[in-house]
Amino acid sequence: MGIRATALKILPQCNFCDEVAHYDFCTRSGKWAYGCENHWREFRKRSGLGLGEGQLLLSHTEVRRMYNSFTNEVKPYEEAFDQVRSCEGEDVEDSIKEKAIG
Ligand SMILES: [Zn+2]
Repeated sequence: MGIRATALKILPQCNFCDEVAHYDFCTRSGKWAYGCENHWREFRKRSGLGLGEGQLLLSHTEVRRMYNSFTNEVKPYEEAFDQVRSCEGEDVEDSIKEKAIG
């Protein structure tokens, strides 16, 4: 349980390379870092996401695209972001889908 995903206007850079970071996570040393997919897998303390573990970062563009792909209604951006913030499912995309069509 807990916040597992956050929508940001601009995604930060990975702390370990030049890639865009899609995770804000707790590393094995206990420090928090931004990481791309590869470096999240390499340095994460635990494989899960959630309180004390880390969260998935999505750009506003990604959220809008994902959200609108599930619904014909054009919803306000903020509403879509709120649904990402409150997302607690195993799969963020499934949770957004559930909320978009529900
Ligand atoms: Zn990286």
